[in-house]
Amino acid sequence: MKIGIIICDRYRRCGGGKCLRAMREHAGGFSRYPKSEPLELVGYSTCDGCPGGNVEYVPAEMIKNGAEVIHLATGMVVGYPPCPYMDYFTTFIEKRYGIPVVTGTHPIPEKYYRVHKDLPSRRILEQFPDLLATPKIREDYD
Ligand code: SF4
Repeated sequence: MKIGIIICDRYRRCGGGKCLRAMREHAGGFSRYPKSEPLELVGYSTCDGCPGGNVEYVPAEMIKNGAEVIHLATGMVVGYPPCPYMDYFTTFIEKRYGIPVVTGTHPIPEKYYRVHKDLPSRRILEQFPDLLATPKIREDYD
């Protein structure tokens, strides 16, 4: 599967280590793919800052480079605060580009889970059981 990743611009200096590790381990948002299926990153970019203007254009380059699915990075789910545009991004990309969108990349780190589980954002986390994974996996991604 050829994958494009769009990250939250607030974390634009992120080196991508957790996302790439999760791809390698088929963890979190990548656990939906069979372990036997090779995963290849063909595009990686930020949304370019609120309200995410790059989301309108960057999928085109990812698709040109072979992307078959676009993942919205986990940072959008556990950011401070969570991105308010995730649903819109998904609807827009799927409608405009005809490519599936998956919310999330690496498992949610335990340190973030501990904060969000007592906040209203818990409701957002609960929408993504693949990202919640298990306590052990969350600790591994701290
Ligand atoms: S909160 Fe959403 S729109 Fe704002 S920078 Fe992050 S991903 Fe982009």
